[in-house]
Amino acid sequence: MFLFLLVAEPLAMTLKSQNDIQGIKIPGKHVITFCRYADDTTLTLANASSVKAAFQHVVKYEQACGLQINLKKTNGLHCKPSTASLNDLPPIPWTNLSLPLLGIVIGSPSGISSEWNRVLSRFKTEVKKLSAYTLTHNAKALLAKSKLLPLITYTAYIYPLSAHLRREISNKIENFIAGDSRLILLIDTLELPLNQGGYTVPNITLYCDILYVKPLAEYCQHRKEKTELTPACTLIEYNIGLQLSRLLSIPFRNYLPHAESPNQLYSHALVLCKKYNLSFEELRNFQTLAIYNSQIATKRNSNPTTTGTQWQNIHFSILPNNFCTFNYRSVWNTSPVMAKLHTPTPDGVTLCVLCHTRQETFSHLFFECPTTYSIWEYIYITSPNE
Ligand SMILES: [Zn+2]
Repeated sequence: MFLFLLVAEPLAMTLKSQNDIQGIKIPGKHVITFCRYADDTTLTLANASSVKAAFQHVVKYEQACGLQINLKKTNGLHCKPSTASLNDLPPIPWTNLSLPLLGIVIGSPSGISSEWNRVLSRFKTEVKKLSAYTLTHNAKALLAKSKLLPLITYTAYIYPLSAHLRREISNKIENFIAGDSRLILLIDTLELPLNQGGYTVPNITLYCDILYVKPLAEYCQHRKEKTELTPACTLIEYNIGLQLSRLLSIPFRNYLPHAESPNQLYSHALVLCKKYNLSFEELRNFQTLAIYNSQIATKRNSNPTTTGTQWQNIHFSILPNNFCTFNYRSVWNTSPVMAKLHTPTPDGVTLCVLCHTRQETFSHLFFECPTTYSIWEYIYITSPNE
């Protein structure tokens, strides 16, 4: 790899120094001709003649050093299509839609939504695959954190999740963790830490919201460090600059143009900033996990659980998982007894499976049913200490 970089550097220097190769000028006053990451090189050129000139240099370079472009893995993305100029361009596949660069799709909005669809379908397949196993809540929480959420994180860092995608992801994970809708254990309950009666399940809605607000970090950094306005920051300034400055108590910049009605993406980010009461410093030093943890702590402090149950006895480490689950469901009254499985009907489907005379509720089945009662009696009579 280092040898490759030593050889690749002269090519980069040559491309940079040529006057006939023009890069793309972006609003922050930079001109970008190419960017490189390890052995991936991306040329960003302003016109067809620059592309041709750059490829001529590449051909010369190939003859000189023997290193060659892998044409099978080379693609071109162009805007303002004109078929005449396309014919003269180097013989690589060209498109005017979108291209993935290092896993990030750039190009038309339809390319970005199809990228989201791809990510979402992978996510759904994974949820379906994991749902086929019988898992404890502990295992599900762990899988949601380590396997399911990371599938969306990378894309969500780059392109905000739309409202309906956030809801869809949230519902999928809730269903995966809480299980059968008729026996549902509320996700809010499952989210609690072990010592408060939960399973520390991730709060997926909060997690998605935090990823949504992430783009504002760069803007706050720019305001703090007074760096040059990048394209992303320009858009934020234009859409919600004034509202955000008011919210974060930083000086207004009235001299810049501002939109009358901001784009939905930005106005929603603003709503989330208000909802989670994020400070300027928190946004500037954006750390997903730190913000997530502090929001979770705030939420828990505002509704402390008052059940008074000794949760450590239920999550006791030497108890097998099925015992823990049984105890847990008993306390939250979510055991799958007949009275919970069926709505009471005159045909008696909710009757106790042991005595067939009364409705099968948790307390009937385990304490009041004549059959169970005789077991308690037997234990009571034979236990020498009682
Ligand atoms: Zn009974």
